[in-house]
Amino acid sequence: MTDYSDNRYFKLFEKQKANQFAVGRTHYKERLKKLKALQFALEKTYKQELRDALYADFKKPQLETDLTEIYPVVDEINFVASNLKSWLKRQKVDTPLALLGSSSWIKNEPKGVCLIISPWNFPVNLTFGPLVSAIAAGNTVILKPSEMTPHTSKVMQAIVSDLFNDNEVALLEGDVEVSQELLKLPFNHIFFTGSPQVGKIVMKAASEHLTSVTLELGGKSPVIIDDTSNLDKAVKKIIFGKFLNAGQTCIAPDYVFINDSIKAEFIQTFKTTLKAFYSENPSESDSLGRIVNQKHFERLKSYLDDASSRNASIEVGGVSDEKDNYIEPTLVFEVSEDSELMQNEIFGPILPVKTYKVIDEVIDYINSKEKPLALYIFSKNKKRTTQIINNTRAGSTCINHNLLQFLNHNLPFGGSNNSGIGKSHGYFGFLEFSNQRSVLKQHTLGAVDLLMPPYSSFKQKLVDLTIKWF
Ligand code: NAD
Repeated sequence: MTDYSDNRYFKLFEKQKANQFAVGRTHYKERLKKLKALQFALEKTYKQELRDALYADFKKPQLETDLTEIYPVVDEINFVASNLKSWLKRQKVDTPLALLGSSSWIKNEPKGVCLIISPWNFPVNLTFGPLVSAIAAGNTVILKPSEMTPHTSKVMQAIVSDLFNDNEVALLEGDVEVSQELLKLPFNHIFFTGSPQVGKIVMKAASEHLTSVTLELGGKSPVIIDDTSNLDKAVKKIIFGKFLNAGQTCIAPDYVFINDSIKAEFIQTFKTTLKAFYSENPSESDSLGRIVNQKHFERLKSYLDDASSRNASIEVGGVSDEKDNYIEPTLVFEVSEDSELMQNEIFGPILPVKTYKVIDEVIDYINSKEKPLALYIFSKNKKRTTQIINNTRAGSTCINHNLLQFLNHNLPFGGSNNSGIGKSHGYFGFLEFSNQRSVLKQHTLGAVDLLMPPYSSFKQKLVDLTIKWF
């Protein structure tokens, strides 16, 4: 057995390990009590502190904090409250004839000691959302939020130490080294949300202990607008989805494909809508957040400079302010394939647009890339919509809108391969933190009992009949 005693977090890990069965035995009502306390903290006690912290971290508008950080976690808790009792019940399954005399069921048992590593872009939502599923499933949890939103992490730390003993839930602030040290420990499950690059590091570390992983990753999510869509509505929705959180959303539209015939109309509608949403000068709008820090500001600025140097045409925006980590909502055409904008997940308020003539071009292009986390289609043509869905792969799809698929807790949320492994939200999140233990109970003499050694030709005939008839 490996000795972990020199690991900085060994004692905390051991405390949770020692407590995991006590937590795992808790009744669903006890788990709901904890979740309701978390809900109260988010909705009442700490709501204003969280709003202030997110504003301090990247000028996140209050409405966006309420809508995208607090509401999804509260909604997740309410959904768990309505369903946890039935999720924890043993689920009886049918018995095949060959196993007559027995009965079988599935017991969802906790995985044990879990690690949740979260990103900075929706720090509350993506730290506490998975925590809700982990608590519902009866686990102990160590949370490691991102170092890039320190004000928010501080408030989350206060909430966690207010509500939980650290042998049940603990939150560790600090930078990447904290994650690296934690990843050495033999957790029973790791739930990671972040970039595909770091996802690979997490999976490699997990493989050391054969720890199961949920990887909620990112990538480039395309939008397709065809010539049958209601352009006015489509543009409004895309601007909302793209510039919410200043474009720093895993499922934000990364680039758009529009039918060649609607290019001029698209640009004009985009300009008018942008002005209506964020005024003539978006830098003065209270509805637009900022880039999280200088490093990400410089990354985005370099993407824009790179596109310009390759003769891309900036149709809208393009202005930036280093002192305020501000990038204006920007629309770019003629972006070359080898530019940074098309090679990387943008994760900021820059939207490249590509034009197409026939839909097969779009399908081929999307399939030549990694599977996206989300794929959006704006079209009134049902046949074409089905054609796109059937001929591409993606973690999720939203038709005639964007982002909303995240908010339906009846849908599994997650990517596929490069955009993620495993699912979150609602029952799917609960399952991710549970082991589906299968149990078979023998009640009477069963057919298999007649087949024990020494084998004979009679027993061979019974096996032959079983294969043939059962
Ligand atoms: P990131 O991968 O850089 O960091 C995520 C977390 O991993 C942070 O807590 C960070 O401290 C930690 N980390 C960073 N480097 C590490 C290392 N070498 N070893 C161990 N831990 C390390 O991601 P980010 O910049 O915080 O977030 C942006 C990315 O997250 C984007 O790719 C975005 O698409 C993705 N994302 C995905 C979802 C989803 O639900 N699928 C949601 C939000 C963000």
